Amino acid sequence: MKVPLLDLQLQYRNIKDEIRQAVEEVLESQQFILGPKVEALERALADYCGCAHAVGVSSGTDALTIALMSAGIGPGHGVITTPFSFFATAGSIVRVGARPFFVDIDPLSYTMSPQALEVFVEDDCRFDSGAGRLIDRQTGLAISAIIPVHLYGQCADMDPILALARRYELTVIEDAAQAIGADYPSLADRKVSRAGSMGDLGCFSFYPSKNLGGFGDGGMVTTRDEALADRMKILRGHGAKPKYQHQFVGGNFRLDALQAAVLLVKLKYLESWTTRRRENASCYGSLFRQSGLIGKGLIIVPKAVYESQGSEYNPEALSPVPPAFFHIYNQYIIRAQHRDDLRTHLAQQGIGTEIYYPLPLHQQECFRDLGYPRGDFPESEKAAAETLALPVYPELGHLQLEYVIDKMSEFYRSVL
Ligand SMILES: *Cc1c(COP(=O)(O)O)cnc(C)c1O
Repeated sequence: MKVPLLDLQLQYRNIKDEIRQAVEEVLESQQFILGPKVEALERALADYCGCAHAVGVSSGTDALTIALMSAGIGPGHGVITTPFSFFATAGSIVRVGARPFFVDIDPLSYTMSPQALEVFVEDDCRFDSGAGRLIDRQTGLAISAIIPVHLYGQCADMDPILALARRYELTVIEDAAQAIGADYPSLADRKVSRAGSMGDLGCFSFYPSKNLGGFGDGGMVTTRDEALADRMKILRGHGAKPKYQHQFVGGNFRLDALQAAVLLVKLKYLESWTTRRRENASCYGSLFRQSGLIGKGLIIVPKAVYESQGSEYNPEALSPVPPAFFHIYNQYIIRAQHRDDLRTHLAQQGIGTEIYYPLPLHQQECFRDLGYPRGDFPESEKAAAETLALPVYPELGHLQLEYVIDKMSEFYRSVL
């Protein structure tokens, strides 16, 4: 049996005719950049994400870049994020001339630890209340924004992050590249909110392996602020409005009509795919429990954000939906003992896995001058060494999931 980490050919086979027709329409129109398909996608995705505005852009990376630019973040500014994410989160901060300030993750959810955030702000920064600015003591830079990452498809713990951002007048940019359609049960607001609708700006990616993936690169930024949306629409076309009159230096961050046409077709199926991912995740959970691997402490299955917060937190009170269903499982991530040997064994048995991400951002060569030694973010470093992504894509069958668990049990029997 073969169980690849992701099989997009299966998905394509099911929607081939519709996709081909949508692509054909664009080919007939010969309008390839922005235009009606992109506008239709923006409308549909703004609704889907529960946000007033959506701006289609050229990638998830460019979504982060243009979000930062639209918020006026550049040289002299600092942006807080975690070192356990895809590179683009921190890369885009540096690309606009700002400096990333890392805070560690929560070990259960792998998303930004609100406690670590609080400690950084209280211990390493001072608030200049006259100027309404949070200043990093060591560098003297003004901290302007926070980028929480909704890693693997689960929202970061936004209540405390948003409260802190309000207190210190920080812009919040959600990196929702992996989390389209994920929900967050907010105790503060007494309601469930969607990824990308809680901060000032929400950034999404349509990279093919994301839950809503295009046939190439693509991305989107959501916001409830019309002025920010308008500015991003100008910035994505080199800051020109009207044509050839440049108000700002932007860039070419435009989305293709072909991508929008494909994504509009796929969007119709997104909820059903997400349901299948959740069923697969829940099935893994039962199979892992039955296998005894959890009981023996050999592996740890994904945990919900609120499980870090103890008993006072009761998301069931907010929603008829089981709280496990807030996650969209772009990745199903386990913590595993003997992770690297396990991965080799699974590969030999035809099972695809991946490590997201093997080297935390503060340890990357290009960020050496930020001066974070190894050991500064122990939870991120531990997660990088222990976590593994298992196949969870919608088209997986029950037998394949059982095969994955069987082969894992086999591995642990052989090493123990
Ligand atoms: C995929 C991803 C991005 C970047 O998206 P691209 O479309 O590949 O540029 C940014 N942040 C996170 C967390 C991602 O997973």
